[in-house]
Amino acid sequence: MTARPDTTGSSSAIVIGAGLGGLSAAMRLGAKGYRVTLLDRLDQVGGRGSSITQNGHRFDLGPTIVTVPQVFEQLWRECGRDFRKDVDLRPVDPYYEIRWRDGSVFTVRQDEGAMIDEVRRLSPRDVPGYKRFLKDSEARYQFGFEGLGRRPMNKLMDLIRELPGFVKLRADRSVYAHAASRVSDPRLRMALSFHPLFIGGDPTHVTSMYILVSHLEKEFGVHYAMGGVQEMADAMARVIEDQGGTVRRGVEVDEITVTAGCADGVVTTDGERLAADIVVSNADPGTTYDRLLRKQVKKRWTPARLNRSRWSMGLFVWYFGTKGTAGKWADVGHHTILNGPRYRGLLKDIFMKRHLAQDMSVYLHRPSVTDPSVAPKGDDTFYALSPVPNLHGANSVDWAEMEETYRKNLAGVLNDNLIPGFEDHLSASHILTPDTFVSRYLSPHGAGFSLEPRIFQSAWFRPHNISEEFGNLFLVGAGTHPGAGIPSVVTSSEVLTQLVPDAPRPYVPLETKVAAE
Ligand SMILES: Cc1cc2nc3c(=O)[nH]c(=O)nc-3n(C[C@H](O)[C@H](O)[C@H](O)COP(=O)(O)OP(=O)(O)OC[C@H]3O[C@@H](n4cnc5c(N)ncnc54)[C@H](O)[C@@H]3O)c2cc1C
Repeated sequence: MTARPDTTGSSSAIVIGAGLGGLSAAMRLGAKGYRVTLLDRLDQVGGRGSSITQNGHRFDLGPTIVTVPQVFEQLWRECGRDFRKDVDLRPVDPYYEIRWRDGSVFTVRQDEGAMIDEVRRLSPRDVPGYKRFLKDSEARYQFGFEGLGRRPMNKLMDLIRELPGFVKLRADRSVYAHAASRVSDPRLRMALSFHPLFIGGDPTHVTSMYILVSHLEKEFGVHYAMGGVQEMADAMARVIEDQGGTVRRGVEVDEITVTAGCADGVVTTDGERLAADIVVSNADPGTTYDRLLRKQVKKRWTPARLNRSRWSMGLFVWYFGTKGTAGKWADVGHHTILNGPRYRGLLKDIFMKRHLAQDMSVYLHRPSVTDPSVAPKGDDTFYALSPVPNLHGANSVDWAEMEETYRKNLAGVLNDNLIPGFEDHLSASHILTPDTFVSRYLSPHGAGFSLEPRIFQSAWFRPHNISEEFGNLFLVGAGTHPGAGIPSVVTSSEVLTQLVPDAPRPYVPLETKVAAE
């Protein structure tokens, strides 16, 4: 039997998972007066935003681009703190470079005039269409990010109210179809439509609402957190501890306990029972409902429904260090996207056929040009990411067998197109495949970003931030509303706190109590 919460004490919250969604939820619950216990199975906080170190190279495993920094500034303000004092976030300009195998290059930066020049250089006839695309993107940002993205979407009425906006903005159309309606050059169509891949979605199927990313990049910049996203996550954990909360690393939750239809605590894999007034899960909703609530009967998020859902793509990520290469490959900056010979064909292979193609498109991260703390002096730290099929369904890729073959293939692409001769300098190497996403993050089907953000898996259709299955249970993070990506998971905690009741018995840290007496 689960111990009841201490009724003489303050209201308590358990947060399962210290991804950026879980960390921001814990901060906001602390600010709301809850006594918070945050548990993560990993030995660091940050989830997909955590890092590993090998031979003096720090590898930020996941997010590298921070957009919409004001979501963090607001989060810190709500906790009575100043974000800029805790995290050194710096703008990166140019944002990134997109390259094609024919040698053409498109450099994305903040300045609108420079961007129009870039478009003109590739395809003069597309300049008017590009300007219209920017306006389209702004309209979708206001509607999708500032509007419904920041509001709860747990009632059908919440969705119905938004339907006229969806119709007006042609949410039925895909990101790619929208870009193609504005520009004709295939390279520009790619450059204006690839953003859903940053959150695991197929640009040819994800709703065109996601073209909002172009506006938020242009308006608020592309940033890098010195020390990596791990540094931001660590700063978030410090705020939680300063609020009097507890952050426990290396603790895995095996089960969420439910009494009379309400979540009332958790049991860890070590058999420890912890009681709480509310439980917030930052584990993937698939893992939350299928694994942590396996003993409970579900009405909506049944195993069959989760299995029918469409999951985001998988990722093959090779982290490597190179010795004595600082200053070499001078044309390779912080962020480079190298297109393969095919765009739509490759997307089809990844998302529809679930076939591991020979060709690939690659995102190359080289943080050592911005942040000296990622590599020993004179060396470089890289990661190369290639989107691949997830593990859903029969005939999924056997990564134990394919990992080395695929790495060699990727090394060949990098060698031939971006960083010739790099393998002679290798000083560290680490690989994540969809299998690792299962073992490290308990990610269903090894998906890189939880449920794919298709129209019928977005807003009300996504697992709700307030559970539709059990009382006192809340969800935060990439698999819930509004979706994946750093700004969205932090916003999901903003939505969550609109749904969580104020702590009936607010937490007062000991020092505050003593000072008052
Ligand atoms: C390679 C990569 C690159 C990316 N690049 C970018 C980028 O540049 N910009 C951007 O904005 N976004 C990017 N993203 C997306 C972004 O990182 C994620 O959407 C976001 O970090 C997810 O945060 P989250 O809070 O949902 O959960 P996660 O980071 O998935 O964290 C969930 C946590 O829950 C823990 N957990 C799960 N189950 C249990 C359990 N039973 N008990 C205890 N703990 C548990 C896990 O260990 C994990 O730490 C990237 C993602 C990846 C993978």
